[in-house]
Amino acid sequence: MAQCQFQTEVSELLHLIIHSLYSNREIFLREIVSNASDALDKLKYLTVAKDEYKSLVFEPRIDINFSEEAKTITISDNGIGMNDSDLAQSLGTIARSGTKAFLKELGNEAKKNNNLIGQFGVGFYSAFMVAKKIEVTSRKALEERAWKWTSDGKEYYEIEEAKRETHGTTVQLYLNDEGAEFASRWRIENIIKQYSNHVAFAIFLTFNEKEWDDKGNVKGNVIKTERINDGTAIWRKPKNELKEEDYIEFYKQTGHDSEAPLLHIHTRAEGQLEYNTLFYIPKKAPFDMFNADYKSGVKLYVKRVFITDDDKELLPVYLRFVRGIIDSEDLPLNVSREILQQNKILVNIKNASVKKLLSEFKSLSESSKEKYEEFISQYNRPLKEGLYSDWGNTEILTELIRFKSSKVEGRTSFSDYVSRMGSEQKHIYYISGGDEKTLKASPLLEAYRAKDIEVLVMDEEIDEIVIPRLGQYKKVTGVDKDGKETYKEWEIKSVGRAGADEEIGETVNKDAETEARPVIESIKTALGDKVKDVRLSRRLRDSPSCIVADENDPSMQMLNMLKAMGQTENLPEFKPILEINGEHPVVKSLAGVTDSSKIEDTAQVLLCQALLVEGLKLSDPADFVHRLNRLLS
Ligand code: ADP
Repeated sequence: MAQCQFQTEVSELLHLIIHSLYSNREIFLREIVSNASDALDKLKYLTVAKDEYKSLVFEPRIDINFSEEAKTITISDNGIGMNDSDLAQSLGTIARSGTKAFLKELGNEAKKNNNLIGQFGVGFYSAFMVAKKIEVTSRKALEERAWKWTSDGKEYYEIEEAKRETHGTTVQLYLNDEGAEFASRWRIENIIKQYSNHVAFAIFLTFNEKEWDDKGNVKGNVIKTERINDGTAIWRKPKNELKEEDYIEFYKQTGHDSEAPLLHIHTRAEGQLEYNTLFYIPKKAPFDMFNADYKSGVKLYVKRVFITDDDKELLPVYLRFVRGIIDSEDLPLNVSREILQQNKILVNIKNASVKKLLSEFKSLSESSKEKYEEFISQYNRPLKEGLYSDWGNTEILTELIRFKSSKVEGRTSFSDYVSRMGSEQKHIYYISGGDEKTLKASPLLEAYRAKDIEVLVMDEEIDEIVIPRLGQYKKVTGVDKDGKETYKEWEIKSVGRAGADEEIGETVNKDAETEARPVIESIKTALGDKVKDVRLSRRLRDSPSCIVADENDPSMQMLNMLKAMGQTENLPEFKPILEINGEHPVVKSLAGVTDSSKIEDTAQVLLCQALLVEGLKLSDPADFVHRLNRLLS
């Protein structure tokens, strides 16, 4: 018998689970039952898809036994089973990606927030909340030998050869004092009904029932086995037969989340294509949403048979936060992965599902501002990714995304923005490339503020990529007499461009320009090729200077982002246009100055402060400090 040590993360996880999920400990049964159900799904699939499994005849089922006296519960399935190396791999390590980083977060958050654990789906290990020892006896389908994994959930586990009549897995829990209460018919039945009622396979419970004679005395005991779950795949039931609780329960049982979902979207398609989909939007974004190797949340079934939960093509990447099920009537059962990717039926289901999801999001935004705010606080960013990758749905995605604003609290939509616009205003304005605080303090906003023009504050990195590509916002205004939709369009313009001030009617008077020219020229000479140009500003009120990008140049923030993404070749060097406020005392003080070192110091300080206030890094901070001190003294 080999004694092995758990991977360190497992030990940590065990410790955390036992201490933070305690008030919820009955979920251990849900977790073990859904593992059994997955194992049955897998084997059922293989018996239709793979020749070598086709001869296996089996009636998939899950059996639960218990003993009040011995304080044990046994859950057994006749699914795919595990051999010795599967046992070591599945129950001795945490194989799932992203786990390590997540564990760290879990450590800090777990005490405050049990949901994190729910989201992660701790699975099997949760049984150690109620058990002092667990034995897992398993035999893998098509293999002769069986194996037993044993552990007390502390540091070690053991694996030894064992006996099992048929393929499948038996999990035997030796309950601890706190877990003893679960060795009861009523507890088990209630937990299964609450959590696992929709599991597609029959779950049987075996129990003792007392027999009574005519006089009301106990005659003896009979052992009975009864099916305790309902077993209909909920997504196949008509909507009117389902209650809100049914949807929530099913989600919790399958979605690795202990919190109710924000939204469920249940669709039955009949006609050319027949399928059922049941999608859920989690309240909190899945923890791996921004990991490149995120886990897909959508399972594919064909005629109720589970096919895969690991196909990221079922929905577009940007909708990776969606959980749920697609069940098709038309796909062949033995459809292979490679074929799946190009399968026309699946592509059609996917496109229709995307349209359905987006239109449900839109309805939510119209029906409940509060709920939509909750939704967008989690999923604004992936939806913006959609604008980049899903051109076919640009219009609706543009309506769904939200931005902060110079004028209103919270987030706003393009649609609300244009409805607040004054009649004079022609375009939609935005400022981007920094955090909210920096952007709101930018000198670029001074003229807009003075003219009471709202500016969208785009403080997410992705805005920088998506918004320039979008270019304009199109709003449906009604339908014409032929029934065609009519639109109004607005250009979406950055305030950080050279010509932006002119658009809002800012002008420079000729006298001021003539007066400032010598100062502008001397600053330009002093800065040399550090800038593309130096101009007298029309947009500044309180600040002495600001930088803008030339009409078709990329912004510095954009270039920095491309660099951060590893794109270094062929990147143009950023050359800003420096705008000078001719009315500012610092600038005025330069009039008539001939001392070239003072002019140079001031010019450099004007440029550096304009960069700093936009949240950008200076290439030579020491030089800036040096010049500043010289001017101050
Ligand atoms: P998860 O189910 O989230 O992957 P678990 O800790 O519950 O995590 O289970 C780990 C792995 O152990 C499963 O992914 C599966 O491969 C294996 N496993 C657990 N229970 C069974 C079972 N009854 N039959 C076959 N494999 C199982």
